[in-house]
Amino acid sequence: MNSKELGLDTLCIHAGELEDKQFKGAISPIYLSTSYEFIDEDPKRYPRNFDTPNQLAVAEKIAAIEHTDRALLFGSGMAALSTMFLAMLKPGDHLVVQNTVYGGTHNFLMKVLRRYNIDFTYTDGYSVADFENSLKPNTRLIHIETPSNPLLTITDIKGVADLAKSKGIITSIDNTFATPVNQIPADLGIDLIIHSATKYFGGHSDILAGAVAGPNHLMEDVWEIGRNLGGNLSDLTVWLLERSMKTLGLRVKKQNKNAQKIAEFLDAHADIKSVYYPGLKSHPEHDLAKHQMRGFGGMMSFELSDGIDPLKFQKSLKLIKASMSLAGIETTVTSPFLTSHALMTPEQRAGLGISDNLIRFSTGIEKAKDLMDDIEQAIKISKKESVLSTN
Ligand SMILES: *Cc1c(COP(=O)(O)O)cnc(C)c1O
Repeated sequence: MNSKELGLDTLCIHAGELEDKQFKGAISPIYLSTSYEFIDEDPKRYPRNFDTPNQLAVAEKIAAIEHTDRALLFGSGMAALSTMFLAMLKPGDHLVVQNTVYGGTHNFLMKVLRRYNIDFTYTDGYSVADFENSLKPNTRLIHIETPSNPLLTITDIKGVADLAKSKGIITSIDNTFATPVNQIPADLGIDLIIHSATKYFGGHSDILAGAVAGPNHLMEDVWEIGRNLGGNLSDLTVWLLERSMKTLGLRVKKQNKNAQKIAEFLDAHADIKSVYYPGLKSHPEHDLAKHQMRGFGGMMSFELSDGIDPLKFQKSLKLIKASMSLAGIETTVTSPFLTSHALMTPEQRAGLGISDNLIRFSTGIEKAKDLMDDIEQAIKISKKESVLSTN
């Protein structure tokens, strides 16, 4: 089976699957042993070494859909990210980070990386020139995130990868929002791909997991640091992740479709000030997104007009849940100013373009019309005038 020739939906189901030799069952058996025969067996398996049968099976699936040599599974997206950073960087090295990275990544750099004499620079923006301007002679790694959270900016993946290659710099991307259904960064020249598998890979808001994928020569370092830090994913959760990943293509394609419909509905709505979704022609990087993505994803954000109370709006939704996390099969919304960006001052948020009226929207797989009806009724009852008239 040459995985390069198989479609993503086929790989999601079959790549890496274990054969049930004992009973001929249709799915991978689950092996929970933490102790394996050691005398002359090879590999000498131990869960923290990332080599239990189920870890290897799902890692192979992720490596196949991300078009990389190898992948490793972690207990969370942050375990994957922190292990990758610590594996790639040594004291004295310099890291360039996109200014709009995930809040947890920002926190890791400020609270952990800083202690180890590893220098880092946030870009001023997300154009290739912004990355180039942030380079230093000792830059070892460039880390990007596209589409970004919460404003869905698009970074030129190939542009950044080419820049890095010309200088011998390693690149990494947080591919959580797009998933390989929508973009395959390795095909555009990115070295390391990181996922919070808590999001679309898991897809049902019920598991915490992460992954790093990349070429063998870099993954060897990720493996070495990873088994020392010990942030593995338990095999029970690995097995749940395999179950989830079989429907990744199906889910994300429906989420893409729903998101496009809802973005267009919101864009035309009188009570919505602006919509941030790369699938809209009005999005500043729409052409770039079209060029490097196969679908525009399930994430978007929008700004309610001033006449609408953002908290009342969220409380008035009936199907859609106000929720901290994202990427489940159920549609959720959140206020960045109350959650991911709560620790910033209003001025800092304004600098990033994040107003108190901004709603981040994670599109699920429900019927799109039901979601639009829910938004419509919530807008109606959360108009500030109607609050006054009912008092
Ligand atoms: C959630 C998230 C993470 C962190 O993942 P955890 O599984 O919560 O540790 C990293 N990057 C992005 C883009 C995320 O959305």
